[in-house]
Amino acid sequence: MGDAQFEIGMKFSDCKVFRAVVRKQFIKMNRDVVFVRSEAFKLKVVCADLDCPWEIYASKMQHEKTIQVKKYEGEHTCGIV
Ligand SMILES: [Zn+2]
Repeated sequence: MGDAQFEIGMKFSDCKVFRAVVRKQFIKMNRDVVFVRSEAFKLKVVCADLDCPWEIYASKMQHEKTIQVKKYEGEHTCGIV
C-alpha cells in the first residue's frame, strides 16, 4: 500500500529531490535501486532485480528545473515473501 507514492505527472523541484525521494522509498521497501540514467534532464530508475517491472522515468521540464514523472510502473514482482 505504501508503494503508491509516485504517479505520472508528479513534479519534483529538481533532480536531487527526485533521486532522494526514490532512494528513500526503496530503503523503506528494503529493495535496491538502480539509477539507469542520471543526466541532468533525464532520469530513469529501475529495480535492482532485472526481472522486476518496477520502473520510473522522469525528465526535466522546459525552461524549468522541475522534474516531472513521465512513466511509472509501480508494481514490484521481486522479493515477494
Ligand atoms: Zn522490484
